[in-house]
Amino acid sequence: MTSNQNLFVALRKGFPANLDAIAIEAVDGPGAGLYTWRDIERATAMLANLLDSLELPAGSRIAVQTEKSVEALLLYLAVLRAGYVYLPLNTAYQAGEIEYFVGNAEPAVVVCSGRNFHWVSKIAFRAGTQHVFTLNDDRSGSLLARAAQHSDRHEPAQRAAGDLAAILYTSGTTGRSKGAMLSHGNLLSNALTLRDYWGWRAGDVLIHALPIFHVHGLFVASHGALLSGSKMVWLARFEPKLVLAHLPEATLFMGVPTLYVRLLAEPGLTRAACRHMRLFISGSAPLLIETFNAFRERSGHTILERYGMSETVMLSSNPYRAEDGERRGGTVGFPLPGVGLRVVDDQGRPCARGEIGGIEVTGPNVFAGYWRMPEKTKEEFTADGWFKTGDVGKIDERGTVTIIGRSKDLIISGGFNVYPAEIESTINAMPGVAESAVVGVPHPDFGEAVVAVVVAKPGAAVDGAAMTAALKTQIANFKVPKRLFVVDDLPRNAMGKVQKNLLREQHKGLFGD
Ligand code: AMP
Repeated sequence: MTSNQNLFVALRKGFPANLDAIAIEAVDGPGAGLYTWRDIERATAMLANLLDSLELPAGSRIAVQTEKSVEALLLYLAVLRAGYVYLPLNTAYQAGEIEYFVGNAEPAVVVCSGRNFHWVSKIAFRAGTQHVFTLNDDRSGSLLARAAQHSDRHEPAQRAAGDLAAILYTSGTTGRSKGAMLSHGNLLSNALTLRDYWGWRAGDVLIHALPIFHVHGLFVASHGALLSGSKMVWLARFEPKLVLAHLPEATLFMGVPTLYVRLLAEPGLTRAACRHMRLFISGSAPLLIETFNAFRERSGHTILERYGMSETVMLSSNPYRAEDGERRGGTVGFPLPGVGLRVVDDQGRPCARGEIGGIEVTGPNVFAGYWRMPEKTKEEFTADGWFKTGDVGKIDERGTVTIIGRSKDLIISGGFNVYPAEIESTINAMPGVAESAVVGVPHPDFGEAVVAVVVAKPGAAVDGAAMTAALKTQIANFKVPKRLFVVDDLPRNAMGKVQKNLLREQHKGLFGD
């Protein structure tokens, strides 16, 4: 028999010999407490046994929409351990969004927070889901109560590298979310690469302040810590003062650019506070050069910026070791070992060094395709098997990669992806609306802010404030436009296409420099 390629098995190999050492210290909220490595081993076994007892079909999806908690992370690990497919959902998603994901993924099990049970369960049962459990951030709910009845020993399911481990929903400008299918091998290869590239080692202490429904917090941060037997200081919510309070005992921090902006607003961010730190990492959205410089000035540390996406996990990184070069602000560094990254023109021909084009990638980390969308998958891969990221960028003489923008018009606000087409279609469905355009404009805190421009039907009166209030009940808060303008016409080019670049230009100063 070939060796078991289950990602959980590989992560567990990183646990330290002393299983009674502290693995996770949850420092805020009702879930605060200490977890040893043995707790992780036992709790994931009980949860995996619970899943096994449900006798689910092979390849079943386990969809999870809960607040961030250590138990939610343990559930992810248990799903891997039992060999099912983990499907995390953003806690901000509202009913219409959950309905789409559950309808598309057809999960066998849905886990939600108790306060959402009444509507999530209805959606799930209607879609044919057999089991709906609750999990709250204070460790209450039916999931843990049921798991407590199971054995704390469990033999991890045998999995091959190509077997599906997780589905992460992402989207294009079409507004229809796509489920990126990631295998045990995709996730493990990337985790091992990052462990070596970023010098993870026993004794590291990671401040984990990111959400765990996204590639950054769920995979990059958690895998790194587990694989190297490093302790995590676990924050259910990012709170700059709490991060600062724990910096003296920490060695690593990962954040989206917004978190760095918030840290910089704290007078307590000083060289002394950061003296024990080994590495600050940023990603998920472009880090402004001003933030990069200001952070170096204040903390004495040069942020390491990296680039990745749901479909591929991490693709490139600025160097960790000085002998590999300097960390250059405004760039995302070099392709990671094993990752192929090229820039091509509109015809798919390779660009010269320094020329801007579409970024395409290949490697063991690149996903297998979009869930139940073979046509879409085919479109997004080249004939020679490279994935078209949809990002626009360039590679300079030194081999450093710079991201210029996103060909798909994606907005990244506070580290979250916002797809204009989805918001536009929600707005367009409102009474009295003829059409709309949604763009991202610079925002000092969120990186980008969502701005909507709406045209009313002839003779109809639309009220911007009322529309914004209505949107808040229909879509996640981070997608709700920060400003909404009602105008007579949208700017269009000769081909009839809305010129979003003009709208961006017009509104770029809305939130200051
Ligand atoms: P997601 O799938 O949510 O992780 O979003 C992936 C997208 O975020 C990428 O395709 C990029 O457009 C963007 N992104 C991630 N990291 C960076 C970065 N360091 N700089 C600029 N854009 C980034």
